[in-house]
Amino acid sequence: MRYLIFSDVHANLEAFQAVLADAGMEGYDFALSLGDHVGYGANPNECIEVLSALDEYAALRGNHDAAVLDPGERAFFNADAYSAIVHTAKQLREESRKFLAGLPLVYDQSETFLGVHATPSKPASWGYIIDPLEAANAFRSMQHRIAFTGHSHIACMFVEGGMAKTFEVGDTLTLDADKKYIVNVGSVGQPRDRDPRAPYVIFDDATAVLRFHRVEYDWNKASAKIIDAGLPTALARRILVGL
Ligand code: ZN
Repeated sequence: MRYLIFSDVHANLEAFQAVLADAGMEGYDFALSLGDHVGYGANPNECIEVLSALDEYAALRGNHDAAVLDPGERAFFNADAYSAIVHTAKQLREESRKFLAGLPLVYDQSETFLGVHATPSKPASWGYIIDPLEAANAFRSMQHRIAFTGHSHIACMFVEGGMAKTFEVGDTLTLDADKKYIVNVGSVGQPRDRDPRAPYVIFDDATAVLRFHRVEYDWNKASAKIIDAGLPTALARRILVGL
């Protein structure tokens, strides 16, 4: 099955729609969202509506999805993230609340891979996998060969025993059956790897072929909406530069 896998939409409707349109042309059977549907951007309800309208999809819970419903989950949020989540909580419609409340922490319906927002071993503790040491810890507990994650907003890949690898747009890799991988698909709605384009991957779990994409979208519009909504201005600035 060909999976469209993406993460951290963060209420950025323009970026999310651009990803779905681009992936639609590439073609996929099933969409998998690795969490953080809300927070930072101006359109939390609309992003949830668009996602729920997809034919075949699964969505996972991210720390912002948890924090918008439960103030106890906001302890580690910085000032901008905190103020955005308080703002989002006020905006959220009842059906969006229900959607977020029902999200599971992992996707394990494929024999080949696991989907999780943060770390495969402790999905609810929201740890980060940024360097090879953290990846090595994660590999030790991984039952699946491949884990797809988000959370850091930095698209990259770790191969067991090796260094981190960044992607070029259009990179197509056949993942080795004898190795373990952690693939961070980056953030659709607020990339932090100095590239404002919205990232996503297409993964075929039958052939283990992974293709990495990045799409331009109307980030000026998404940025202006953040200002108009009264969200922190830094959030409007950072999506223009991908940081
Ligand atoms: Zn996030």
